Amino acid sequence: MSTKGLPAQAEDFPAWYVEVVKRAELAEHGPAKGSMIIKPHGYAMWELTQRALDDRFKATGHQNVYFPLLIPMSLLEREADHVEGFAPQVAVVTHGGGEKLEEPLAIRPTSEAIIWSTYKRWIQSYRDLPLLYNQWANVLRWEMRTRLFLRTSEFLWQEGHTAHATATEATEEALRMLEVYREVAEEILGIPVFSGRKSAAERFPGAVETYCIEGLMRDAKALQCGTSHFLGQNFAKAYDVTFLNADGVAEHAWATSWGFSARMIGATVMANGDDAGLRLPPSVAPIQVVIVPIHRTDDERASVIAVAEKLRADLAAAGIRVRLDDRDQHRPGFKFAEWEVKGVPLRIEIGPRDLAAGRVLVASRLGGDREEVAVADVVAGMADRLASVQRDLFADALAYREANTHEITSFDAFAAGVEERGGFWCGAWCGDAACEAEVSARTKATIRFLPFDATDPGAACMHCGRAGVDVATWARAY
Ligand SMILES: [Zn+2]
Repeated sequence: MSTKGLPAQAEDFPAWYVEVVKRAELAEHGPAKGSMIIKPHGYAMWELTQRALDDRFKATGHQNVYFPLLIPMSLLEREADHVEGFAPQVAVVTHGGGEKLEEPLAIRPTSEAIIWSTYKRWIQSYRDLPLLYNQWANVLRWEMRTRLFLRTSEFLWQEGHTAHATATEATEEALRMLEVYREVAEEILGIPVFSGRKSAAERFPGAVETYCIEGLMRDAKALQCGTSHFLGQNFAKAYDVTFLNADGVAEHAWATSWGFSARMIGATVMANGDDAGLRLPPSVAPIQVVIVPIHRTDDERASVIAVAEKLRADLAAAGIRVRLDDRDQHRPGFKFAEWEVKGVPLRIEIGPRDLAAGRVLVASRLGGDREEVAVADVVAGMADRLASVQRDLFADALAYREANTHEITSFDAFAAGVEERGGFWCGAWCGDAACEAEVSARTKATIRFLPFDATDPGAACMHCGRAGVDVATWARAY
């Protein structure tokens, strides 16, 4: 146990995660197995993530739409790989209004089916393309092993679904949106990610190519942070979506889909937290600065609160998410501990002696060091202080990932290493799915990503010894 009564990360990471999610009041389990209730602090983090993504979707020419939650089973069944991949996870509504339905309705596990059956009506000519649409929604994929944010039956996400006249355009779109995901993961959520391409075995059901970003959590396990798929013409063919090209010839449209979910709230906790709780990057912190007044007498209280309230108003006016914690029922030490576990990046302490000296103390959640700052300078310097916390947190996570990314020198060294200390392991691979499956069975690691373009490793496959055709990066993953 750490000094804060949390399990230490190094001793029991899963228990640490459960306790931090609970004490930081992010979420709790819902009454139905696999369901989750997101609490205000957790939902505010999701709202900030949504805003960061949505602004970038709009800036790249996308519009939001909304499609129904219920999908007739016959529609879902039309793309064979897609339905086969999702079948074990689909929940089906068979009764409504007290009667058995003529056709069962699937609760969407993802929306390609309903969207592409609609695009058939929306796409006639090359002039209708591209369609650049995104949907903010919940989806349901049956899960019995629940882990808050990371694995729940119902989860919140966005799913982009675009249609294009050429394969090149669709591939460019899939890669453009992957880059948006990388930017939000790294610059907003403070999670360094590797970008790349999935092996065929790890591809989205129905995709020609799946691109991904992969992060490393503080237990040295990898987490898939977002995926973007080039779907080729599979869905256009399954749902009969054709357009007349400039020469008047009918062609099937080219598709992409891409998703980023609220599991990234869990990823932010696991990639940035420490033994004292959450450490939030300011960009995703619902409260960036908390002001804690310190006083004993009523007179002290009046003068300290007056200055604290003015500071709060000035910081808020400067666009900073600030809270004045003037709750009288709690002592300062209790408040410090609460805001620490909730990951608030900066804390301002104001006491009578500080006021007499015309200063406050600014404490960082990162190092815990406290800096004396003149009251008059607090507001002007705050944006820079927050930016430096954002940078330092990212640098810390990046250093952790670099210390936990290894070259594979031999299969045995890799198998022993990934068992002992987790992390990412890169090495030559023959490209064969059977070899990949054998490695996974022996090590519990999976290929997290391949380079965007197949890269000659100049070495034999680290497992089977056949000629290497690509460089694979393996890890045990959530
Ligand atoms: Zn091999």
